[in-house]
Amino acid sequence: MSVKVCKFGGTSLADGNNISKVAEIILSDPSRKYAVVSAPGKRFSDDIKVTDLLYTCYKESVETGDCSETFAKIRQRFHSIISELELQFDIDSILDRTEKEIEENKDADFTASRGEFLNACIVAVKLGWEFVDAKEIIFFDKNGSFDEKKSYPLIERRLAKAKNAVIPGFYGTGADGRIKTFSRGGSDISGSIIARAVNAEIYENWTDVSGFLACDPRIVYKPEKIEVISFKELRELSYMGANVLHADAIFPVRKGDIPIVIKNTFRPEDAGTLILPSKKYTPHGNIVTGVAGKKDFTVIYLEKSLMNSEIGFARRALSILEREKINFEHMPSGIDTLSLVIESKYLKNGTLEKLVEEMREELSPDYIRVLEDIALVATVGHGMAANIGTSARLFGALSAAGVNVRMIDQGSSELNIIVGIDNADYEKCVRAIYKEFFGDKNGK
Ligand code: ASP
Repeated sequence: MSVKVCKFGGTSLADGNNISKVAEIILSDPSRKYAVVSAPGKRFSDDIKVTDLLYTCYKESVETGDCSETFAKIRQRFHSIISELELQFDIDSILDRTEKEIEENKDADFTASRGEFLNACIVAVKLGWEFVDAKEIIFFDKNGSFDEKKSYPLIERRLAKAKNAVIPGFYGTGADGRIKTFSRGGSDISGSIIARAVNAEIYENWTDVSGFLACDPRIVYKPEKIEVISFKELRELSYMGANVLHADAIFPVRKGDIPIVIKNTFRPEDAGTLILPSKKYTPHGNIVTGVAGKKDFTVIYLEKSLMNSEIGFARRALSILEREKINFEHMPSGIDTLSLVIESKYLKNGTLEKLVEEMREELSPDYIRVLEDIALVATVGHGMAANIGTSARLFGALSAAGVNVRMIDQGSSELNIIVGIDNADYEKCVRAIYKEFFGDKNGK
C-alpha cells in the first residue's frame, strides 16, 4: 500500500478544535500512516507560540532557576487542549516532570523541543496511534548536521513495526546524546526526513495557507497561487524569502524523488501547491513561476584591467571572505569586473571597511566601489529558458516603472534572473515584474 507522511504545523495544532480537524483529515485517508507534528502555535495574531514560551522558560531557568510562572502558561495551553478534546489523559505527570527537567537541565534545545514532544503525545492519544519519539530515530553528527546514514535505517526499521505513528517534529538526538533541535520551523525538515525514510508516495505538509503564491501578498494584491512548482524553482523562491516551507525541508525528499504537497488544514478541499522533482515536472503555461526577494544586501564591486588573465584573482578575493568568515550570496562577474553580494547584517561594526581595506591591499584593483542598501529580486521559472525575450520584457518593465537596476545576475541554469536594486525601489520592482508576467488583473 502506498504510504503518505503528513506534517501539521503549529497553527493547525494550536487548540483542541484544530487538533480535531487534523484528526479528521488524517483518518479520512488510510494511506496517511505517519504524522509529524509541531508544537501548538498561535491561536490569534498576538498569541504566543508554545515554542517561544519554552525559550522564555529556558532563559528564566538559567537566570533564576525558576520558570514556574511561564511554565504555568504552557500548562494552561495543554490543559485546555485536553479538555477541548475531551481526552482521558493524565498530562499533569508529564508536565510536572518536564518542568523539573527544564529547570535542572538548563538546556535550550531540550527545553524548546518539549512543545513538539507534548503535542505528539496528545495527538497520538486522540488518534489511538503509537507515539514514536524522534530522539530514538533522528540523529545529528558531530558537526550538528542531520546524520542520514545513521537515521534512515533506524527510522525505517522502527516505523515498519508500527501500523501508524505520531512523531514529534523539530528535534532528534545530537552526537553527544542530548536532544538537539533543527533551526526554527524545523518540523518541516523532520517530516521530509520521515517521508524519505519510509519512501512515501508523497509528503503532505499541512499548514494554514493553500500553498505558495506567485508573489508576496503584502506587495501585490491577491497574487496568483502556484499550482505546480519544481524543487529547483522552489529552492530559488524559498531562499529568497517565500517562506511557507522551511528552506532545508526540500533536500531529504528531493533526494528520494518524493513530491511534496502544501495543503491548508482549514480548507482541505483546496488543491494546494504540488512540488515536484524536476524529472516529474513539465513546465506549464506560465513563463515565470514566481517572484521573490529580500532587502539589505551590500555589493562590493571590484574592477581591474586584464582581470580575466590574472590567475587566482577570484580565489584570492574569496579567501579574504573565508578568512573573515563571511558568506557571500552571489558573485556576478565580467571580463574585468567582479562583484560580491553579501548580506549587510554580516558587515556591521567596521567589518565592511576592514574587508575593503584587505581587498585593496591584497588584490590591487584599479577601482573598488561599495553599494549599500541593495535589495535582490529573483524572477524564477523553468519557462524562461525556452522563451526568447524574457529578459527584454523584464528589463523593459523595470525601465517603464522607473526602477534603476544596479546589478544583474542570471543563473547558468536559466531558471532565474536576479536583479539588484535600491532598497527603496523594492516594492516597485516586485510589482512591475509581477504585472509584466502575470498581467494587470491583480496589480495594485
Ligand atoms: N515549533 C518550532 C518552531 O516554532 C518548530 C516548528 O514548528 O516547525 O519553530
